[in-house]
Amino acid sequence: MTQRIALVTGGTGGIGTAICRELAAAGYRVVANYFPPELQDAQKWLAEQQADYQDMHIAAADVTDFDSCAAMVKSIEADLGPIDILVNCAGITRDKTLKRMSPEQWHAVINTNLNSAFNITQQVITGMTERGFGRIINISSVNGQKGQFGQANYSAAKAGLHGFTMALAQEAAAKGVTVNTVSPGYIETAMTSAMPTEVLDMIVNSVPVGRMGSPEEIAFTVAWLADERNAYTTGANIPVNGGMYMSA
Ligand code: NDP
Repeated sequence: MTQRIALVTGGTGGIGTAICRELAAAGYRVVANYFPPELQDAQKWLAEQQADYQDMHIAAADVTDFDSCAAMVKSIEADLGPIDILVNCAGITRDKTLKRMSPEQWHAVINTNLNSAFNITQQVITGMTERGFGRIINISSVNGQKGQFGQANYSAAKAGLHGFTMALAQEAAAKGVTVNTVSPGYIETAMTSAMPTEVLDMIVNSVPVGRMGSPEEIAFTVAWLADERNAYTTGANIPVNGGMYMSA
């Protein structure tokens, strides 16, 4: 069997890096998408990863731009082959209470965290269904499940992402393509280290497991969903949040 190819958007970020490494360790050819202006950082990242995983690659696209995503997928498919596993992981925060939120802050978060899923997934879904195999994994957030003060934009985008998951899961289920959401709680990355310490301490105190999660714990769940043997889990939202939010 030919080696499966995985594309991870935001692949050079905190959680993205752990996902790329976990998928590479599982034997996939991995392509990490990065934001085009960050070429130098992405090249440095690649050199570090290739010390452990030779078959790691990088590809530029702004996930908020449909044409940029189309061009990236075309070039990956020409160079390496069709994409079998897509992890939509790129994301940003622009926190403000709604009354102080600018239209730019609203649109930036919706474009990067939600519209991106359409922009990229549209490029790969037809190929996946035609070949009869695909794994699409959308990285949402506990705050898409429960809402969060100061995050109307982020919570809306992340909740919307799971709506996208459930609809596409139904469209693709009979064709061997599963679509799932992973909803992390608070994970130790640059995104959370930018938060004030007292806010983080308060959050950690509310986590039953008693600590923040690691990017590797998210990556492990993603690899489980990506596995070929995992063909009967679809349209699911898998929480990886230390028990911070539980639902039936
Ligand atoms: P990072 O900021 O480390 O990673 C986000 C990645 O997305 C970065 O590589 C960033 O690139 C990339 N990105 C942002 N905008 C674009 C764009 N327009 N085009 C292409 N790439 C882009 O954050 P995390 O690793 O913490 O987050 C990864 C995902 O996990 C996000 O979707 C986030 O919402 C979600 N998440 C994170 C949690 C946490 O506690 N850390 C909790 C719950 C969910 P660049 O750095 O160059 O801008």
